[in-house]
Amino acid sequence: MASQAMCSSFSGCSNTGTLRCTRCKGADPETFYCSPACQRQDWPFHREYCRKQAYTFELTLLGSSDPVITRVFDLPAWFTFRQLHYTVQYGMGPWQCCHLHEFSFQAESDNSRNFLSPRNDVLRIVPADLLEEDIMPMPEMPSSRPVRTEGEENLLLSDVYDPAGRLRSVAAPNGEFLPLIYLYDFGDNWEHKLVFRGSKLARAARPLFTAASGCGPVEDCHGPLGWNDVKAGFRSPNATTHQRNLVPWAKAVSGLGDRFDPFAEPDVKVMNYEGRWENHLESYMEASGEDTAHLYGPEEGEDDEPFTF
Ligand SMILES: [Zn+2]
Ligand SMILES: [Zn+2]
Repeated sequence: MASQAMCSSFSGCSNTGTLRCTRCKGADPETFYCSPACQRQDWPFHREYCRKQAYTFELTLLGSSDPVITRVFDLPAWFTFRQLHYTVQYGMGPWQCCHLHEFSFQAESDNSRNFLSPRNDVLRIVPADLLEEDIMPMPEMPSSRPVRTEGEENLLLSDVYDPAGRLRSVAAPNGEFLPLIYLYDFGDNWEHKLVFRGSKLARAARPLFTAASGCGPVEDCHGPLGWNDVKAGFRSPNATTHQRNLVPWAKAVSGLGDRFDPFAEPDVKVMNYEGRWENHLESYMEASGEDTAHLYGPEEGEDDEPFTF
């Protein structure tokens, strides 16, 4: 028996549908149409990701514990590293996109990483303004050799992760990708490790979260140990005065007041709500003076090859 669901046409059709796009072989298991007419109507939206690739990443906030903070998400292969930056900001709770950041592929070392670990970067990916100023987050720990550095605004994920990507051999010198570290806030030094978990057909033109654990920390709480102090203040019977004093501060910084719960587990269904990502993206982009004109809906104009059921 064919699966069926509400017709996915953007026109708001309320029929049930059993027809799927055969061009992408039904990559999105939730997209069905009731008729060729509805598929045609939906095409300007569906073609944004139809038959394109998505990459799966597993993110871990290094040093986080009880619980370890993780996010697993699929991202369009045509996203830039700038958009990956926004995705991490969004996925973490969200972070408020108010501090410096950078990406780096780092050769593995036997030592566990900590603030004073020597960096062994093989590729840095930074915003254009950092590219010009050459700010290093930890100048006292310079790399032993010059590191190739790229601007995040123009570098596509596929430039690194596609089999033919121009930087693939840099990021995967022995055939396997080195871990990608996203460093956020050059004071608190939040290190997010991003592990590439493979590619598949895209199901959307936006990030889709498939798993998440651990509430994202509040801004400016001084790294994973400071975040543990905040949590202890909220629930540990042995909390110190310092830890208890962090409670009202954290409620205020979170923007949620008394509704703030540092033990609330993230809900991927909510994170994937239609429009929620776009709302956050728009505010991030506006804050950094970027053009948001094409954020909603496809651009008019060029059409490509026809589609079929
Ligand atoms: Zn329909
Ligand atoms: Zn399709």
